Amino acid sequence: MTTTVGAPERLEFKTELKQLLDLIVHSLYTKQEIFLRELISNAADAIDRVRYEALLKPDLLDGDSDWKIRLIPDEKAGTLTVSDNGIGMSRDAIVENLGTIARSGTREFLERLRKAEAKDRPEMIGQFGVGFYASYMVADRVTVLSRTAGAAKTDAVRWESDGQGEYTVEPAEREARGTDVTLHLRDDAKDFLQSWRLREIVKRYSDFIEHPVVTEVENEVEGKKTTEEQTLNSRQAIWLRPKAEIKEQEYKDFYRQVSKDFEDPQKTIHLAAEGTMEFRALLFLPARKPFDFYWREPKSGVQLYVRRVMIMPDCEELLPGYLRFVKGVVDSSDLPLNVSRELLQHNPILARIRTSLVTKVLKTLEEMKSGEPEAYLKFFHEFGTVLKEGISQDPGNRERLADLLLFETTKQEAGKPTTLAEVLGRLPAEAKEIPYLIGETRAQIEHSPVLEGYRARGEEVLLLTEPIDEFLIESLGEYKGKTLKAADRGESAGDKAAAEDAKKKAESEGYKGLLEHLASKLPDVKEVRLSARLKESAACLVADEGSMGAYMERLMRRMGRSGDAPPAKRTLELNPEHAAVQGLKRMFETNREDPRIETVAGLLHDQAVIAEGSKLKDPAP
Ligand code: ADP
Ligand code: MG
Repeated sequence: MTTTVGAPERLEFKTELKQLLDLIVHSLYTKQEIFLRELISNAADAIDRVRYEALLKPDLLDGDSDWKIRLIPDEKAGTLTVSDNGIGMSRDAIVENLGTIARSGTREFLERLRKAEAKDRPEMIGQFGVGFYASYMVADRVTVLSRTAGAAKTDAVRWESDGQGEYTVEPAEREARGTDVTLHLRDDAKDFLQSWRLREIVKRYSDFIEHPVVTEVENEVEGKKTTEEQTLNSRQAIWLRPKAEIKEQEYKDFYRQVSKDFEDPQKTIHLAAEGTMEFRALLFLPARKPFDFYWREPKSGVQLYVRRVMIMPDCEELLPGYLRFVKGVVDSSDLPLNVSRELLQHNPILARIRTSLVTKVLKTLEEMKSGEPEAYLKFFHEFGTVLKEGISQDPGNRERLADLLLFETTKQEAGKPTTLAEVLGRLPAEAKEIPYLIGETRAQIEHSPVLEGYRARGEEVLLLTEPIDEFLIESLGEYKGKTLKAADRGESAGDKAAAEDAKKKAESEGYKGLLEHLASKLPDVKEVRLSARLKESAACLVADEGSMGAYMERLMRRMGRSGDAPPAKRTLELNPEHAAVQGLKRMFETNREDPRIETVAGLLHDQAVIAEGSKLKDPAP
């Protein structure tokens, strides 16, 4: 795109942004003040970014590292400006950042925002990371003047919009690196020009921000009017203060700042390690997962500080991926300030901090599980899926993690999951297996014919319904010496003797010919045999031990990966006690060419396909 100097370029907001702005304008009435928190947070991010980039390219700073976020109310013009000396934005960056929402999950987000009550919307906007637009709760026009680090004075850019669907960008000048966001306040939002009001909001929402948030106040000294710069935030690093001095509310406020969550945390963990390793950590377990938890890239929720200076907003090295729901800060005094991302990767100090954080988080979860089972259940409901990743990610804590998992089983009411330890407690001492069945929903697998044998023997079966469960079972393999055994694969220990009997029965009672005949008529099955596991149903499908189960097969297909592993044919098992199967045998004995045999067999097969939760290949029209 070419720009004629001086002529503002008119551009349209992307559709989703238009819809968002429309919603924001209709959420005007409550919590308007959070716009300031969002703008201050953007300014602080911009400062952190230029400071970080300058580690490698010190020239970017141009001699200015007096980090500051200025609030400039202008009574006459009716504007409030938030100004920073952060990284700034180029023309393209400004179009990209303020003209589009280039994020997955946006459509879902808008859907939820629309359904949410107006009073919850402002916070949701901040949480989703579109905080800049909160400006339109108080302003009918917003002007952004920005000069990116390393650009010339005349290479700045001015962006402006009334939030009605279009914005303009044009070349501009700015004395130094940084960004000014100027809000043209609506008439009903003029109180945001008052310095007491600004101080109150900063105290409430941005007190812990590391960089000074300043404003000019007028003073009268001996009849002479002077202005003085005042810092509005205390910049106190709450994590460095002794626990006993910190009020519950302070923790909560801080949590909201680091997490962007608008609920209180479920658990607060404040750690001070001294001696050979010195660090402080203030971590939180959220009460609920952020609504975009599964859409956005998995990111660590822990910020790394070195002696009060933020080094990295999402430090992967501090906690393993399966604990990415944990939010908070870690401050180390043993790391150098100019540590780069590369240096952090195999850093022994971080590795030790990580070990102790993981231990502490797992311990907190263990205490919650035994001391507050209700709260733990709630936690697991929100984050259990992620925790399960730990079984393969963190072999060193495998046992502890296995004990933290909760499972639905055939002996538990739905919604009241149990632990493996409890299942083990109910297992007869001589049992060698813990059976499980995987499928899409509990309702579907609970009625699977493959469970009939287990039910008849009173054996408990784990009912697994999450995509990750296949992988979980694969990496877990066993629990305290008991093998985790797929109920729809191979033979269960309890069925072994019965399976032998079934084989003999097939031989002696003349089923053999029928079974072979059916196998030849049903090209989708590997084998047809008499079942030892069926008690009520006529037929079921089972996979071979070690081959892919029906659920995994469907999962792969959904992921478009069925080409990687062509589906293995399954075995069709028939229940010799069932009238339909007995009828089939009689037909076969009377006239093996009877065309009804194929029809009935086909029906039994289709029934079994549906029972395992799969779709019929070629459903009758
Ligand atoms: P988020 O901060 O969660 O990314 P925002 O809507 O608040 O979402 O901001 C969008 C983007 O605009 C930011 O990610 C950043 O790239 C850019 N931005 C906003 N304010 C500034 C600023 N003061 N300085 C530099 N970049 C900014
Ligand atoms: Mg933001």
